[in-house]
Amino acid sequence: MKNAPDHRKAVRGEGCYLFLEDGRAILDMVSSWWVNIHGHGNEQIAEAIYKQALQLEHVIFSEFSHAPAESLAARLLEILPNKIEHLFFSDNGSTAVEVAMKIACQYWWNRGTPKERFIVFEGGYHGDTVGAMSAGSESGFFEPFSKLLFPVDTVPYPAVGESGESLEAKEANTLDKIETLARNKESGYAAILIEPLIQGAGGMRMCRPLFLQKLKSLSESLDILLIFDEVMTGFGRTGSWFASTASNTCPDIICLSKAITGGFMPLAVTGTSAEVFEAFLADDGSRTFYHGHSYTANPLACAAAVASLDILRACPERFENMSALHLKFGDFLKYHHKTRNFRVQGTISAFELNTKKENSYFNPVGRRAKAMLLKRGILMRPLGNTLYLMPPYIITKEELERVYSEIEDMLHGIELD
Ligand SMILES: *Cc1c(COP(=O)(O)O)cnc(C)c1O
Repeated sequence: MKNAPDHRKAVRGEGCYLFLEDGRAILDMVSSWWVNIHGHGNEQIAEAIYKQALQLEHVIFSEFSHAPAESLAARLLEILPNKIEHLFFSDNGSTAVEVAMKIACQYWWNRGTPKERFIVFEGGYHGDTVGAMSAGSESGFFEPFSKLLFPVDTVPYPAVGESGESLEAKEANTLDKIETLARNKESGYAAILIEPLIQGAGGMRMCRPLFLQKLKSLSESLDILLIFDEVMTGFGRTGSWFASTASNTCPDIICLSKAITGGFMPLAVTGTSAEVFEAFLADDGSRTFYHGHSYTANPLACAAAVASLDILRACPERFENMSALHLKFGDFLKYHHKTRNFRVQGTISAFELNTKKENSYFNPVGRRAKAMLLKRGILMRPLGNTLYLMPPYIITKEELERVYSEIEDMLHGIELD
């Protein structure tokens, strides 16, 4: 954009702070786009990468394997829901989703009952590659590409705290819609794709665990695979290791990325059940999943991820503490006339600026709030009129207290239309 502000040059990061060229310190309340969970400059992860780089920086991940990938896989399988037994490596969240959709499609092909249509959710965001854009086509970001995208069927995401009928009614309505779609579709659906518990880019919209449990049984009874896009919700964000563990549900396919390496290296994993995996086994290449990337399972990234998981072991207490702090500090936001729908899920809190317009990513008030907060040394990136906090887990009570009081100041000064 011609009127975009100049870039701020970041020169150093430490803990929750980013330091700029001009010496300013900024509190990173978006964990640098949701990836950084242990704070900036974590030495343990930095050293793990350094040591691995001296040992083996990269090797083709076809017909070769290596220790960091194997220990990461073993460690992930320990914490993932039991049903997930096999992992496929790639290098970013969009690709993790792309791979999940391709696996779902080929699963049915390999079984001799091809199905290639997907059910997705309004407000869903799954990444910027073509398949991921197709799944998130309702998000409003992808209009220039609409002719390139493949068709999907979209159902409402029953989010808490929004206007309209009761949550129970909304959930029932969505499940009914899915059932009707599935019963009317001759060729059937390959999979249902959802961001479990929280839709991230769609505005931190939260749904109930109970809904996911019902969705799980429905997808089973309709013989449709269930894909959880946990690219944002993974690794503690929801207060548990994963949204699946938090909600006691298990998908057939799971997508992980963002926080997997603690925010140090690009890496992604798509996990599947044994049943899905077995549909790809054959004596020849006829059922093979032909998908690979040059940097698949990069050893430096895997080493970073193992180090991050080591640190995460000590974190479950932190998740609980952060939820409690959000709720405590958020108390005043709940009753503030300039806000609505304050909500918390694990380490994430969110609320809307109470504008007359409907909640929307394109509501300009968010940009004003962002600028006001940045002046106060707080980095937040509102999604339209939705403001949220997604801090690194190491944030202290005092730091979080400061953020909430800066938000209070901002609310005092901001004009809503
Ligand atoms: C960020 C995100 C993606 C895309 O991940 P990238 O690494 O940015 O490609 C996919 N799904 C969800 C839920 C995300 O939040």
